Amino acid sequence: MSTFQAPKGTYDLIPPNSATYLAVREAISVPLRNSGYGYIETPGFENVELFARGVGESTDIVTKEMYAFETKGGDKLALRPEGTASVLRAALEANLHKGGNLPVKLWYSGSYYRYERPQKGRYRHFSQVGAEAIGAEDPALDAELIILAHQAYRSLGLRDFRILLNSLGDKECRPVYRAALQDFLRGLQLDEDTRRRIEINPLRVLDDKREAVQEQLIGAPMLRDYLCEACKTYHEQVRELLTAAGVAFEDDPKLVRGLDYYTRTTFEFVHDGLGSQSAVGGGGRYDGLSEMIGGPALPSVGWALGVDRTVLALEAEGITLDIPAATAVYAVPLGEEARRVLFGKVTELRRAGVATDFAYGGKGLKNAMKSANRSGARLALVAGERDLAEGVVQLKDLVSGEQTAIALDAVVDEVRRALG
Ligand code: AMP
Repeated sequence: MSTFQAPKGTYDLIPPNSATYLAVREAISVPLRNSGYGYIETPGFENVELFARGVGESTDIVTKEMYAFETKGGDKLALRPEGTASVLRAALEANLHKGGNLPVKLWYSGSYYRYERPQKGRYRHFSQVGAEAIGAEDPALDAELIILAHQAYRSLGLRDFRILLNSLGDKECRPVYRAALQDFLRGLQLDEDTRRRIEINPLRVLDDKREAVQEQLIGAPMLRDYLCEACKTYHEQVRELLTAAGVAFEDDPKLVRGLDYYTRTTFEFVHDGLGSQSAVGGGGRYDGLSEMIGGPALPSVGWALGVDRTVLALEAEGITLDIPAATAVYAVPLGEEARRVLFGKVTELRRAGVATDFAYGGKGLKNAMKSANRSGARLALVAGERDLAEGVVQLKDLVSGEQTAIALDAVVDEVRRALG
């Protein structure tokens, strides 16, 4: 142990468990890469105003959870708390929306930062894989994204997740609903903070987890009763496309999510084995966001799936991913001359694409063989002075224990053959 520890609310990914994280990121991105989404990477920090405007001044993410700071040069920046605002900012900056080839479909993977109260499944540094489809209003696009997230989770073997679906309306019907909801909420017994929220973002009050609040919300006006014809038709089409694709979902009229920019389709993936931090991913349509950050009208839709919580979901379902051992061959030299010769063979094998490791540090045979077994390798290459004198090395199958001498100058071919 050193003097230092990982900061509160963070943890390190270390082998062998880190391999699961990589595999989860990979599994989530495969369906996206297979569906026309291109990879995008944006900086870990942005102008703080991008998030204030893009995510919303009234959200917890912006008011309480942002790592905001001023640089020595006087720039006001923030570590990114989420991906959508940055990706849209980058797409606009690069004029990706101007080629006439809409929607612009992008996927990303990275670290995000929120100053939250840490608990299992809720960290101050976490990892998301996300996707955004920018510049098209088409229910098939909303459905595509939900289907791809569903496919990703299924490919990992997850079963105990549910998809919650709602529509938040658009700039026609949402204001009418908002006013009706505000009228209703103003008549309730609520604390100062919540009363203030009624005026800034009343929909968020529906999301309040406290029982005393939820009890009073019975009978609150529901957005689905206020949706305009266009929003209703749009939502119905999304639902039909999901059903046709065999993707089950639950209508959740109270689903609002914690970010201000959502319009129409909103969804969340929840996992039933995770306790209070049950949302493994979520997203929705954000038709007004581009204009909110100074861009043209670009109706868009996207999601972000949490890698940390997806790994917890795998654990909750008892799923161990089938991750191939990193090392296929482990070389064990006995003596100085063998070290020199075998190290050369290791380099040759690696250049031929065979995952190979080497017993460093002059270990004795017993210790070296222990390391070989621990590495997960299928084969060991062992050589001592006498082997070298005969121009051979010993090829040992670490599963069967069988050992054969192979010619030194045929190591790559023989190893390949033994590995099948
Ligand atoms: P959000 O951007 O809040 O919609 O979050 C999308 C997903 O990111 C969530 O469903 C979680 O899986 C993950 N996530 C968000 N915040 C955290 C956090 N503090 N710790 C771990 N995962 C998180």
